[in-house]
Formats: sequence, structure tokens, C-alpha cells
Amino acid sequence: MYVCSIPGLPQSTSYQIATEEATLLSQYIQKKSLSGFEKEAGEFLADICRDKGLIVERLPSPENSYNFAASLSPLSDNKPNIIFLNHIDVVPEGNTGSWLYEPFSGTIADNSVWGRGAIDLKGVAIMQLMAIEKAKQWGGEEALPYNVTLLCVSGEEMDNQGIKDVIENSFEKLNPVVVFGEGGTGLSQISRGHPEQPFYCISVAEKKALWLKLSLHIKTSGHGSVPPPLYANKVMTQALNRLLKKKQEIVFDATTVAFFKTIGRYEKGTRKLVLKHPRLFKGLMKKALREDPIIFSILTNTITVTNINNAQLPANQIAPEIEALLDCRLLPDTDPGKFVEDIRSTLDVEDIHVTVLKETPSAPVSERGLFYKQFQKAIEEVYDNSAVLPILSPSYSDNNFLRRMGVPVYGLTPIQLTRAQLLSFHNSNEHITLNQLREGIKVYETLLRNLLLK
Ligand SMILES: [Zn+2]
Repeated sequence: MYVCSIPGLPQSTSYQIATEEATLLSQYIQKKSLSGFEKEAGEFLADICRDKGLIVERLPSPENSYNFAASLSPLSDNKPNIIFLNHIDVVPEGNTGSWLYEPFSGTIADNSVWGRGAIDLKGVAIMQLMAIEKAKQWGGEEALPYNVTLLCVSGEEMDNQGIKDVIENSFEKLNPVVVFGEGGTGLSQISRGHPEQPFYCISVAEKKALWLKLSLHIKTSGHGSVPPPLYANKVMTQALNRLLKKKQEIVFDATTVAFFKTIGRYEKGTRKLVLKHPRLFKGLMKKALREDPIIFSILTNTITVTNINNAQLPANQIAPEIEALLDCRLLPDTDPGKFVEDIRSTLDVEDIHVTVLKETPSAPVSERGLFYKQFQKAIEEVYDNSAVLPILSPSYSDNNFLRRMGVPVYGLTPIQLTRAQLLSFHNSNEHITLNQLREGIKVYETLLRNLLLK
């Protein structure tokens, strides 16, 4: 790679004549693709796939969106298929003033490609594509045990419409045996004993989102100077207080036990002992776990009061109606019907009406079988001294829609992210380094080599 400094730019900035993958990513970022408007970006990437010799098939989608499959062999061969899943859409740029480079410029500078989607998830799509292109160059795809498909869908950031359309119209045709999608990532600063130790967290399960609206109407006298014993805001806030005070149970399932055990290997003394036997030392760990919101979120059901609304009234007028919105996230084994019943009984106010606003699908945990092990092996081959562990993802994505269809899904962006990059998710200054792009391609390529040629 040729690197040159351009006079007049800040000292730290150098512009590069970039690698092919960086150039492709830069161009892809320039095709702005907010959810619901992915067509131009989708057509752009589909054309690139065609140029690289892949067999491209557009899959049904709403008019301004785009879903497509780009495969080594035609889907009509109906071969068992390894799917590399990514989404074309991106979230809006937010406050443009806080970006170093214009968010849809795809600027290549400081050894990085900058812009919305650089990591989430256009960068991953480019890594996956370049690895499939490599597999194409090995030739002899007719004799390979699997087909490989780059599956690019719309709407992931909004309502998962793309993956819903794909499952409804094209699931059989795709014939997936495994899906590698987004979810976890590579991180350090997890182990206290070895803070520099890199961990690669493969998501094998997701929590389910359950969004609820609580509404309460109490007709009372309206003047704030003479408060009635019970009025809507008072009853609702007291009920919410009961709900938030109730401690949710901490659950160690097979995924979180494996997660802690792996970290435990890198710890010392008591911490090592406790992490290697989390169920045994649950009592001892509880307090520390409750103080760490990220870890805590993968161990319990959570309830967050995200919104409380009244009609706009002057301060001396008692609002007869109040609404509260709850964002609940449920562990895979939780029965949503029973969870709502528990909420009702904890609120303990018959007149509070509970409406389900949104519910993402429940799906089984993906077993850590052959494909998981091969993914782990590929990561370990590419990154020296890496530790791979399974995680339960606290947020939802397209993955559970496929898990529900019985397909194992493993979610990982196979690169080490810095703290600044983690903060850039759905925020300003999203960027990926040229080295990360190269390493990510290497992981996918190694995975395909091991699955197809060995
Ligand atoms: Zn994403």
C-alpha cells in the first residue's frame, strides 16, 4: 500500500491509495442506504458480486428496498448452503457536526475507511464478499460439499423486513445449513488478570424484545390545589416503583456458564475459582454482577421504563390519563405470556391496561456444533493467542428469525474493536482500519477453506 501525506492536512492525517476492499467499502458507504431506501446501494453491491463471477439473484422486497443472494453455485442446484448474512441498511448519521469526515463520504484516511456503515455492517459485507471471491478462485465449485451465499438484506435496523421477506419467499431456495451474521465482536479489557487478552465473542442466542404500553385513566377533580387521594400519575408512579424495585432472577444457562468459564481461565486466585464455577458461587457473585449493566443484561430479564407521558397541561391541572412505555428484554427460556402476567401482578392495579407494542421472535440457542467449532478454529488460526467464547446477545437482530427456522446462526464481526470504535456504533465517527478489513477477510477465508477443502 502506498501512503502519502497531503500538504495542508492535519499532521496525523495521511491519505492512502487504498486496497481493493477499502475502495469498495468507501464506494459502498457513499451509497447512502437508510432503512427502507436500500435499492441503490443494493444494486451497487449486487453488480460488484456479478463482476466477481458470483451468481446473483434478486430476492423479493418492497419497491425502494433490496434483498439479494450472491452465490458460488446457482441456488437452483439446491446444495446445502453456507450463508454469510449482512444488512444493506444503515442508521441515520445523527449530528453531522461531530463527525471528523462527512458521514457518507467514505473517506479513506488515517489507515481507516470512515463513514456510516463502516462497521455496522457494510464493512462486514465487504469482508464476506472478498472471502467468497477467494473461494470462487479455488474453482471446482461443482464438486464442493456446500454452496456459499452472500445474503444481503434490507431493513435490519428498523423492522427486520428484509429477513422476514427472505424467509417468507426464498427460505427453501436458499437451503441454509448455517448462517454467519452479526452479533458479537473481538474485545480486550475483559479479563482483569490479562487485560490485553483478546476475546472473540460469538453470539449463539439473543434476548427477545417485548415492548409494552401501560395506560391508566382515572377521572378525578382536576385542580392541583386539592389533590384527591388517588389520581392517575400517583397510582402509575407507585405501580412503576413496585415494578422497578422487584429484583429479576439471575440465570446461568449453558451459554453464560461457558462465557464465564472461558474468562476464568485467564484470571488468578479466587476470581479464577469463582468464574470457573459460576453456578456454585452465584451467591458470592450476585452483588458484583448487578453493578455491571452489560454483564447483568445477559443474565436476567430486564425492564426499562423508557417513556412516561401525559397530555401537555399546566402545572395546576391534574392529568386524567398517563401512559408509560416499557422496553423488556427476555432471556431465551422466558415465557413472554407468563412474564406479562408477572408484570400485571407486580403493578397490582387492575385499571392499568397493558398492550404489547412489539415482540421479536423467540428462538432456540444455536448449539456449539461443527460450524461453531470451525468458526472458532478459523479465528484461532488467524489471531495468535485468541480466546473464543459464546455469548447471549442482549440486543436483537435478524439472527433469531433464522434460528426460529431451525438454522444455527453464529454472530460475530471477526475483528478486534477499540473502545472508540465501540462508541462509534450508531454514533459519529464510525470507521474501520484497513488492517481490520484484511484480518476479517482472512477469518472468513480460513473458515471457507476449512469447510470446503478439508
Ligand atoms: Zn447491524
